[in-house]
Amino acid sequence: MSDVMERQADHVAGAADLQPEALVPSADAAPDNKKLHRIVVVGGGAAGLELVTQLGDRLGRRGRASVTLVEPARTHLWKPLLHAVAAGSLDAGEYEINYLAQAHWHGFRYRFGEMIGLDRTKKEVHLAASFDDEGRQITPVRSIGYDTLVIAIGSVTNDFGTAGVAKYAVPLETLAQAERFNHRLVNACLRAQTQSEPVRPGQLHVAIVGAGATGTELAAELHGTIREVIGYGLDRIDPQRDVRIVLIEGAPRVLPGLPERISEATHRLLEEIGVEVRTGARVTEVSADGLKLADGSFIASELVVWSAGVKAPEVLAKLDGLETNRINQLVVEATLQTTRDPDIFAIGDCAACPHVGTPATVPPRAQAAHQEAAHMVRQIHRLLRGTPLEPYTYRDFGSLVSLGKWSTIGNLMGFLFGRGMFVEGLFARLMYRSLRLMHEQALGGTRRALLAVIARAFAHRIDPPVKLH
Ligand SMILES: Cc1cc2nc3c(=O)[nH]c(=O)nc-3n(C[C@H](O)[C@H](O)[C@H](O)COP(=O)(O)OP(=O)(O)OC[C@H]3O[C@@H](n4cnc5c(N)ncnc54)[C@H](O)[C@@H]3O)c2cc1C
Repeated sequence: MSDVMERQADHVAGAADLQPEALVPSADAAPDNKKLHRIVVVGGGAAGLELVTQLGDRLGRRGRASVTLVEPARTHLWKPLLHAVAAGSLDAGEYEINYLAQAHWHGFRYRFGEMIGLDRTKKEVHLAASFDDEGRQITPVRSIGYDTLVIAIGSVTNDFGTAGVAKYAVPLETLAQAERFNHRLVNACLRAQTQSEPVRPGQLHVAIVGAGATGTELAAELHGTIREVIGYGLDRIDPQRDVRIVLIEGAPRVLPGLPERISEATHRLLEEIGVEVRTGARVTEVSADGLKLADGSFIASELVVWSAGVKAPEVLAKLDGLETNRINQLVVEATLQTTRDPDIFAIGDCAACPHVGTPATVPPRAQAAHQEAAHMVRQIHRLLRGTPLEPYTYRDFGSLVSLGKWSTIGNLMGFLFGRGMFVEGLFARLMYRSLRLMHEQALGGTRRALLAVIARAFAHRIDPPVKLH
């Protein structure tokens, strides 16, 4: 099963299973009015779902274009929430968006499927067949035609070929993986509570590899939630003695991509609350009972989370000759058009987009996905009007890291006199939440986003603060 499909029970046939003769035009793909410009967006994540929602509202609903989303999942959850699902402090159901309903409300078509290939001459996207748990086919291998294609299939965890990662470590890139980790965590606590022998060293240890935003946020959040779970009557576990959370980073400091002041403040806080931080430590192997470091030391840990880097999905490297870089990202011009085909665009984590004015590319972050989706909406309007496309310029508004209930730390760019400003505490927390609210607002409008906030505030008054099952 592919990475993408792991989040749900259904299975897809891989590219190897795809015979050209098996490929049929999707029965539900053609727009009712054949003269309509066909916009197909592949991937309904932070970037793709915002894009189809806005295009559907402005063009699809008004019959000015046909807008189709191709996506192998049935629901969308904004990825920056995954660490909280893994730690058990967030109920994914409160935040998930159902693709079929979203499409119905916002004037676009949702076509269930995973892209496994592309024919640029025929202008067709190839989708894998999908199967349910009993092996019955849900959708056949099929193709969907486009006039303009936007690829927004995000990124996956990069294990850099480290031994044992695929088998023993849990990545955090899909809802299923975050939930799997949480189940393993709660199960480990229940096992420790009921077993006759004392808790083994490593049995309730969590090693998190990679102290970027994901790993760091998970470490802080977990430190709190694991104690909450134990506090619900698991009295044979002593959190001080039995629980250990180790955050391991190959670079010399945590949050290596962020300004040093944020790294220092975060490192200090993590150590204050009792998270063990190991910087300059390279993991060489992960096994069933822990991980080995390059200096030969071994860290015993039943639970290992791998969040040490990203790459774009492999499928991009074989998309009918489109240019990709060494981590499979589609290379795009500043207009977001792929370098070898002006009718194909890429946005979000899967795009290597020039960061105008710097030698770097735009970083794989939620705010970049949000900005690129908004820029892409305007590009499509220009395209339909026949006016020239404009380059996208990334604006870095800063970075915020949520350290569970303890603090939120970060910097806001261009806030005062155009310089970065260090922020911490309540104000930082409110700014952190505003990024998620912007995503919710882009998907459902201001009223719906505010109603969701109120509904969740009430739910939190009656539910336990952590997931206990
Ligand atoms: C745990 C975690 C925490 C994060 N925290 C932060 C944060 O605090 N701040 C921040 O700025 N960024 C954060 N990020 C990064 C941020 O989530 C991403 O930059 C952002 O989601 C990228 O959006 P996207 O649309 O490119 O990809 P995604 O949101 O990943 O969406 C990709 C979509 O494409 C679909 N897809 C994949 N393959 C295929 C295929 N072959 N065919 C069809 N569809 C496909 C997937 O199912 C998915 O729905 C975090 C990421 C993770 C994993």
